[in-house]
Amino acid sequence: MFALPQLPYDYSALEPYIDTETMHFHYDKHHAAYVKNLNDLLTGYDDLMNFNIQELLKSFDKVPEDIIQKVINNAGGVANHSLFWQIMTPAAESTIPQEGKFFDLMNSTFDSFDLFKEKFTTISMGHFGSGWAWLVVNDGKLEIIDTMNQDSPVTKNLIPILTLDVWEHAYYLKYKNVRADYIKAWWSVVNWREVERLFNDAIQ
Ligand code: MN
Repeated sequence: MFALPQLPYDYSALEPYIDTETMHFHYDKHHAAYVKNLNDLLTGYDDLMNFNIQELLKSFDKVPEDIIQKVINNAGGVANHSLFWQIMTPAAESTIPQEGKFFDLMNSTFDSFDLFKEKFTTISMGHFGSGWAWLVVNDGKLEIIDTMNQDSPVTKNLIPILTLDVWEHAYYLKYKNVRADYIKAWWSVVNWREVERLFNDAIQ
């Protein structure tokens, strides 16, 4: 069985940038639905049910054809949201690192954290329709990519360390159709310490 991971903070912890009502809908309804749907889909497929979510994302070749697209959508929905909660934190704790391997590679790849944020924002803004923007580790290098719907970079053997949900359900209650305001606010609650930790794990 796949489980809904606990939120690492209270529903109101990301206010005013990510509002409490959105957190409730996004986590209680959307994320929970992906978990339920995935468990329903894989009932009776014990070998698939025994994978952890990361293994499942890399094992779509083992999923029967009649349920494959639904499994892709819901497994991605489960994993992508788990990472999304994980890489946010109350604004007071959102501190960009000032030294270390991650700091150095961010600067040598994107010239500065500010320019990284600009490039990531441009990709997030330019993504048409539902999907996600990502900072991934690819063979020791940092890359910004976007994916459609609930597709996960893990399936392509990339290691995601930062992600932004650009589905309208992630921002519509507070920001309406103005994705730019949501992205600008979101930068205030990025958990850079956790992103750095994921980076260090990825390059082991
Ligand atoms: Mn979402």
